[in-house]
Amino acid sequence: AASKQGRLEAQGMSVTFGGLKAVQNVSLVAEPGQVTAIIGPNGAGKSTFLNLISGFIRPTEGVVYIGGEDISKLRPWTRVRRGMARTFQALEVFGSLTVGENVALGFPAPIGSSPWRPLLQWGGYRKERELIKVETRSLLKRVGLLDRADSLASELSYGDQKLLVVARLLATKADVLMFDEPGAGLPRREINALGSLFRELAAEGKTVVLVDHNMHLIFGYADYVYVLHHGELVADGTPQEIRENEQVVRIYLTG
Ligand code: ADP
Ligand code: MG
Repeated sequence: AASKQGRLEAQGMSVTFGGLKAVQNVSLVAEPGQVTAIIGPNGAGKSTFLNLISGFIRPTEGVVYIGGEDISKLRPWTRVRRGMARTFQALEVFGSLTVGENVALGFPAPIGSSPWRPLLQWGGYRKERELIKVETRSLLKRVGLLDRADSLASELSYGDQKLLVVARLLATKADVLMFDEPGAGLPRREINALGSLFRELAAEGKTVVLVDHNMHLIFGYADYVYVLHHGELVADGTPQEIRENEQVVRIYLTG
């Protein structure tokens, strides 16, 4: 089971900024088929932990595995090829491109692609572009944005832009999908749309990792929850267990 494809395991991750221990010896396992949540107050180290897992920050200590394979030495973009993709806390929609073009950007570049490739393999290239078009439409359909495919991304509502970012992440075909605060600023109805989408992805066998504050999203849609506070893991368990954990309640009441 340790080598199950798409299983994410982070062991003893730590990083220090100046004197600040932003993440201290945090471990996590996220299973395929599950929505795994990471919660904690502002500044708890959640985004930093995602940066460590995805390779955007180098840990002082810790190892990351996907499907049992140590990927700790790989660059972020190589991790995407190994099946790990993430969103960032700030929305990253290209406003002057269309919705469809934004999704198309998520498709992995063909390995070994060169500027001459279109000339060398014109037929294959055209076929590939056709395929990307078809797949883009199917991804847009699945997040409910197909009718907006040709609108500029900047014309979408904030909630729809979040769904667009999910579609672009799906284009990578990664097994491990990590989202930094996807629910931030969304009304309840759109939280539900997002939560249902995460459940569907998990049901298809994806490993879904969610960093969020939104208690409705976490307690309504996650299978397992990790709680960070001051860079440390203070609790982990089912949503029910976390809800009843006195230390967690105290952290959230007193900040
Ligand atoms: P969260 O996502 O849980 O709100 P962060 O991971 O963004 O928390 O931040 C954790 C702590 O590390 C905060 O005190 C933050 O100010 C600090 N921090 C984050 N990134 C950096 C950085 N690049 N340099 C210095 N300090 C940082
Ligand atoms: Mg954050």
